[in-house]
Amino acid sequence: MKKSDDNLMDPTKRLNDAPRCTATAKSTGKRCRAPAVQGWSVCRMHGARGGHAAGSNHPSWKHGERSRETEEMRKTINELIRADRELQKMID
Ligand SMILES: [Zn+2]
Repeated sequence: MKKSDDNLMDPTKRLNDAPRCTATAKSTGKRCRAPAVQGWSVCRMHGARGGHAAGSNHPSWKHGERSRETEEMRKTINELIRADRELQKMID
């Protein structure tokens, strides 16, 4: 029996199709091409799983006034205000 390329049970095929690291090497100027860590766009050598946790556990967290959540809320409120202004214009 001849081996086919689309054999899903072939483990090398599964590994070759894994998402690749998007980092670019400073030395060669080329893409890294190593398999990316699950849930990350980079490989283990290029910063996957590194860094601090986001949110109030982050060491530079001060008061949360500029947190992602608060900024999102501010955006929504501003949109509502803008919509209200448009409605007022239509009434007047
Ligand atoms: Zn990499």
